[in-house]
Amino acid sequence: MSLIVCKFGGTSLADGNNIRRAAEIALSDPSRKFVVVSAPGKRFSEDVKVTDLLYASYTESRDKKGCGEAFARIRKRFCSIVEELGIDFDIGAVLDETQEAIARSDSADFAASRGEYLNARIMAALTGREFVDAKDIIFFDERGMFDEKKSYPRIAERLFAAKEAIVPGFYGTGADGKIRTFSRGGSDISGAIVARAVNADLYENWTDVSGFLACDPRIVQNPQKIEVISFKELRELSYMGANVLHAEAIFPVRKGDIPIRIKNTFRPEDAGTIILPSKKYVPHGNIVTGIAGKKDFTVIYLEKSLMNTEVGFARKALSILERESINFEHMPSGIDTLSLVIESRYLRGGMLDKLIDAMKAELAPDYIRVLEDIALVATVGHGMAQNVGTSARLFNALSESGINVRMIDQGSSELNIIVGIDNADYERCLRAVYHEFFEKQ
Ligand code: ASP
Repeated sequence: MSLIVCKFGGTSLADGNNIRRAAEIALSDPSRKFVVVSAPGKRFSEDVKVTDLLYASYTESRDKKGCGEAFARIRKRFCSIVEELGIDFDIGAVLDETQEAIARSDSADFAASRGEYLNARIMAALTGREFVDAKDIIFFDERGMFDEKKSYPRIAERLFAAKEAIVPGFYGTGADGKIRTFSRGGSDISGAIVARAVNADLYENWTDVSGFLACDPRIVQNPQKIEVISFKELRELSYMGANVLHAEAIFPVRKGDIPIRIKNTFRPEDAGTIILPSKKYVPHGNIVTGIAGKKDFTVIYLEKSLMNTEVGFARKALSILERESINFEHMPSGIDTLSLVIESRYLRGGMLDKLIDAMKAELAPDYIRVLEDIALVATVGHGMAQNVGTSARLFNALSESGINVRMIDQGSSELNIIVGIDNADYERCLRAVYHEFFEKQ
């Protein structure tokens, strides 16, 4: 029998009815032995996530402000969940303990982790499965990074002993023995870690959408659904998937060659999107898999004669960024030119001028130019390498739409072409590329 680890996201667990639906899904397939859960998410668009209420409750108790309003809201949410489910679970007592523990604790991470903790306890009571606390199986090292050497064997041993279990996502134990969380949305990472530790055949990530779309639906009407995508393609399209799957969730499963399937809790019959490791990837026939982009980049363009013979030029340019803790997005280069593409938000408050001054002083370029308000659009697909003329089609489509291409970067894997265009052309660019590869016959 195959082994599936499934993770249910916040919206899938926002209230009692949703939690029941998630439990039914988990129990409907005996392969789904290990279930990772998030805290209750939003029930409607103006609602507040339980995790946000927990952070607020921590601040209230630390600053001795308010009279526990945030925790009162948390209490109400969990009591109504348990009531809706009609389970025999003394939520009042567990909430009392939790409130006291938050009041005693000096850690926002501890408070934030309680949403997952409580939801997992409820899910365990509902399904009759064992609750395995993430604090006993997921560990971080002294630098605050996930400690795989320590965690993987512990997870496997503990979960195989339990046979079937419910595990809270989002947190583990730090090197100091205190509770520590991943970044926001981190239950996706916990699910991936559990899947890797038990060497699952599949990591199912249950959300409130039926997978990834080939383009942003706010810009392109009714974009096609992506049925199959590779880990590599998804990384190149990372601007796109961020709201569906935490970007860091792919690394543990990718290393273990474990596919991820994105599924919709509210439409379980939909196939969703399967994310495949290179070894298991089968071409799906489309040239392009997806198109995604983001606005507000700045390009610093450096020109210097005989740059190609000057050993260490790029290193020096990058060390200037490193000194200021600024990361770059892309670095297209020519024989005498080098461009650094950086998110504009890092360059505010005089940082851009500081970098330019340092580059002039330390690199002595012949010419330096700054392009601001640039958007990046990535066109991604394994099919692009095999099909002659793909870039011609892309640039033709852009020129027909009157879009000025300010920068081009083609990954050497031939998996992606990234164009830099003016922010103002962003929406038109996405539509033009989508039309060329998905709508034109
Ligand atoms: N509950 C946490 C958050 O809101 C983690 C998660 O949902 O994955 O960020």
